[in-house]
Amino acid sequence: TTPMGSLQTVIQETADQRATISTGKSVVHWFKRDLRLHDNRALSLASAKARTDNVALICIFLISPQDYEAHLTSSIQVDFQFRSLQVLKTDLEELNIPLFIQTVEKRRNVPQTLKDACKKWSAHHIFCNIEYEVDELRREAILTTDCLTDGINLTAVHDTCVVPPGTLLNSQNEPFTVYSPWHRAWNAKIDRDPSLLHQHPRPQPNPPSSHMTYESIFKASVPSPPSNKSLTPDKKMYFASLWPAGEHEAHVRLQSFLADKVSKYRDHRSFPAANVNSLLSVHLAAGTLSVRTAVAAACEADTAGSRRLDEGTRGTTSWISELAWRDFYKHILVAFPFVCMNAAFKPAYVSRIAWSYDSALFEAWKAGRTGYPFVDAAMRQLATTGTMHNRARMVVASFLSKDLLIDWRLGEQHFMLSLADGDFASNNGGWGFSVGCGVDPQPYMRLFNPILQSEKFDAKGEYIRKWVEELRDVEGKEVHDPYGRGNADVVKRMMERGYPRMIVEHKKARERAIRVFGEGLQSA
Ligand code: FAD
Repeated sequence: TTPMGSLQTVIQETADQRATISTGKSVVHWFKRDLRLHDNRALSLASAKARTDNVALICIFLISPQDYEAHLTSSIQVDFQFRSLQVLKTDLEELNIPLFIQTVEKRRNVPQTLKDACKKWSAHHIFCNIEYEVDELRREAILTTDCLTDGINLTAVHDTCVVPPGTLLNSQNEPFTVYSPWHRAWNAKIDRDPSLLHQHPRPQPNPPSSHMTYESIFKASVPSPPSNKSLTPDKKMYFASLWPAGEHEAHVRLQSFLADKVSKYRDHRSFPAANVNSLLSVHLAAGTLSVRTAVAAACEADTAGSRRLDEGTRGTTSWISELAWRDFYKHILVAFPFVCMNAAFKPAYVSRIAWSYDSALFEAWKAGRTGYPFVDAAMRQLATTGTMHNRARMVVASFLSKDLLIDWRLGEQHFMLSLADGDFASNNGGWGFSVGCGVDPQPYMRLFNPILQSEKFDAKGEYIRKWVEELRDVEGKEVHDPYGRGNADVVKRMMERGYPRMIVEHKKARERAIRVFGEGLQSA
């Protein structure tokens, strides 16, 4: 059975016993990657329980440096999380709800720290939202029984997807492995059960006396991130203005996207310079925005006024179907948890590849110095902002694994260490898809020509000029291939500015990739 299956079994088997747990003197909500008050299922349940029991609600957030290491969380994402915690703490304070934040140096001590906190506050009930990575699912399964022995009822619930993972099966009663039929089933499920989009109520305020009772928690300030995940003061300022944190910012961004961009989304979403994407992934990853809220708001704002997901206007349905990809990859992670083990969804497609581990080529890719302007623009956008346009993510993933023949897992890891929106399921899914070893595998077909992609999706070279300083004044089509197409003057300028020549020749690299992937597949 899968880790999710084990957790579900534990939840079911302990249900009767957990129901007998008596009322404590407080109820705890354990925040993880759900840093918001709006539409937060576990928080809503915790608040309702506190109301019924007539006790205070206390919130807790545990900083686990080892989890940051294990998940390769980027410093930008940690910084965003800590700034969001600050907003959360202030918002909770207005409701007289304390937010207790504690660092737990060893991740194995997380359960004990939680239980100790409950003991201190005489809390018999903890609520949390389920995270779908393998370690977290295993931890919550153990924690559910472990808490019971201490007289504590841990309630872990689905929240982070619109449709809970494990609830969509194909006609053979098995999990889907291809997006299109899964997406039809996802749409149909929500149409049949609109409550999946209902918003969970915000928490109710604690009585004013809570302020005195938990004064020390209210007084404590949000700590700084662990030193190895801290940004320099300059970077802190830059990222604070680039990615304003907290749920209010998420709502402002969502509303402005729905007002100004969603109508153009379908036709322009693949063009990095078009600026029609929502840039909400950073919030969705931190949980400062609920995906249900995003879908419900998009339906609400849609001029077609249809309640069926597939009958909205083109922009809205297209955007919702992208949000569905996020659900899809989490469903895949839950159904096929081995993808968490440094593996591809289709291991046979890549397990016998004779990868090149050329560190100079890898460094050139990371630094945006491959000589392919579109690839370089994308990698520099990532290094500067912690994000990258979706089309560009696919192109650079294909370039690393096919043109450079470098193990895709190194790229997957580099992304996690760099992204502000790093999310294991979407990142692993996106890499698998781009390399052709994930769901919907096509190892030969998905081999992008970086120049053709550049000409098609950045025809005027605006994206390239924005991110590649050396090419800022190169006009016309020369921008896609300055050494190959540029006149003598352009070539001279490139050399003076130190812009690299192409580090591999695409035509030859393509032939090599097709041969090596073919051989790998045959010997698997
Ligand atoms: P929009 O275009 O506005 O889309 C709205 C939302 O839909 C996004 O915020 C995101 O939550 C979801 N979404 C859109 N496209 C995808 C997709 N292909 N897969 C899954 N969800 C999607 N997304 C992450 O959130 N975290 C990652 O770590 C991540 N790594 C990726 C790695 C690769 C190699 C690839 C090809 C894609 C990856 N994606 C990842 C998906 C996608 O690129 C980003 O979600 C998107 O670029 C975020 O920009 P946006 O918020 O403006 O998206």
